[in-house]
Amino acid sequence: MINIALFGPPGAGKGTQADLLVKKYNLLHISTGSILRSEIDEGTPLGLEAKKTIERGKLVSDEMIVKIIEKTIRNNPDVRGYLFDGFPRTYVQAYILEGIMTRFHKKLCCLISLEISEDVSVKRLLERGRTSGRRDDTEEVIRKRLREYNDKTIPVIEYYKEINRYFPINGDGSVGHIHSQITAIIDKQIL
Ligand code: AMP
Repeated sequence: MINIALFGPPGAGKGTQADLLVKKYNLLHISTGSILRSEIDEGTPLGLEAKKTIERGKLVSDEMIVKIIEKTIRNNPDVRGYLFDGFPRTYVQAYILEGIMTRFHKKLCCLISLEISEDVSVKRLLERGRTSGRRDDTEEVIRKRLREYNDKTIPVIEYYKEINRYFPINGDGSVGHIHSQITAIIDKQIL
């Protein structure tokens, strides 16, 4: 079993790389952002609670995210591995993830971090906003999401650096080149 977290600012290309990785390694893709958007579309209580926060470019509570992750893992115990996309996003989430993994007798092998500048992030998200229909892909909300990233998400890197599971990659390249760098890291962990 191989469990991976894809990390990086909004627009780093996590979704694109996740699609390639789940196919190659036959993993369960757990994107907390996509799960939250489905909850919003279905009008569930959780979706209603999350909607305003997401549209303001803020992070939803750690409690809500942990509930989502636990439920998804509990409902899918027999997979080849999990690919976390957009999670963990706070130091607390990273800490709790370790606990969840231990409880389910699993381990996160690596946090693969796609690193891009703020300018590239804004440019890509504005482009995506033209077709994504996402209400949080507007310039004002993008800037707020980046502020949240800098304030609350960057500290996650320290957590994984300390336990030697942080693997940075330059995210400003071709999809294929980035994919092959990620697979080189994963294949080394599998061996
Ligand atoms: P994403 O699709 O990953 O860009 O996520 C969209 C939005 O969902 C984020 O801006 C947050 O409001 C919320 N969200 C997704 N994942 C998390 C998380 N792990 N922790 C807190 N909020 C999250």
